[in-house]
Amino acid sequence: MVYVYTIASGKGGTGKTTVTANLGPMLAKYGKKTCILDADVGMANLGLILGLENLPVTLHEVLGGKASVRDAIYDGPLGVKVVPSGLSLQGFQNSDPDRLRDVMSELVGDFDVMLIDAPAGISRDGIIPLTVADGVVLVVNPEISSIVDALKTKILTETVGGHIEGAILNRVTTNNDEFNRAQMEKLLGVRILGIIPEDPNVRRASAGRHPIVVKYPSSDASRAFRRISAGIAGIE
Ligand code: ADP
Ligand code: MG
Repeated sequence: MVYVYTIASGKGGTGKTTVTANLGPMLAKYGKKTCILDADVGMANLGLILGLENLPVTLHEVLGGKASVRDAIYDGPLGVKVVPSGLSLQGFQNSDPDRLRDVMSELVGDFDVMLIDAPAGISRDGIIPLTVADGVVLVVNPEISSIVDALKTKILTETVGGHIEGAILNRVTTNNDEFNRAQMEKLLGVRILGIIPEDPNVRRASAGRHPIVVKYPSSDASRAFRRISAGIAGIE
C-alpha cells in the first residue's frame, strides 16, 4: 500500500521542489518504489530541475482529461519515477485540480511511497494535494513569514481532515538572528523531521539539472537529505 506525502509550505520558495527532487531519488535508492509528482501545475519546476523537459505527456494533459497518468510517468535519478507538469499556461488553464484524486487512486498499487510537490498558496490547486496525502510535510525556512504561512497550511490541512507528518527546516544557517530548531518546533507545534542547511550546491546542482544528492553527494545538504530519507524509509 502506498504512503503519500504532500510537500507543502504555504509560502513560495521555501524549498518544496528541492526537497521533493532529493528525497524521492534517495527513497528509491533505499529500496522504496517511489514516485514524485509535480502538483504545482501553474509554476512547474520539478521536471526542470531534474532535466525532464519537452515531454509529450505531462500531468497537464492528465488533469486536462486528455491522457492517462501512466503515459506521464518518466524515469528519474536513482530509480525514482517522475510525473512532471508542463510549462504552458494553456496546459495549466486546462488542468482540473480535482482530477488529482483519480490520479492517486490509479497509482495507489504501483508504489510504496509517493511525494507530491505542492504549489504555494491556498487556492484550490493547493488544497487538493493536502487532502489526498496520508501525511503533509511542511517545508519551513527559519523566518517569521515562512513560519506563519506554514502554520496557516497546518490549520488548513487539519480543517480538510488531513494529517501533518511534520516539518523539514530548510535553508538553516548559523546566524544568531534566525529562529532555532526548538523555537520553530514550539511555534509550529509539529515534529521536526530534519534540518537542511543553506548550501550553495543546491542551486549549482539544479542549474546542472540534477538533484544535489546525485551531483554533490558529500555536500552538507546531501547529508541532511540522506538522513531524512533514511528516517522516512525506516532504515535509521
Ligand atoms: P519551492 O518549491 O518551495 O518554491 P524551491 O525548491 O524551488 O522552492 O527553492 C527555491 C530556491 O531556493 C531555489 O533557487 C533553490 O535552489 C533554493 N534552495 C532551496 N533549498 C536550498 C538550500 N538548502 N540551500 C540553498 N538554496 C536552496
Ligand atoms: Mg516549487
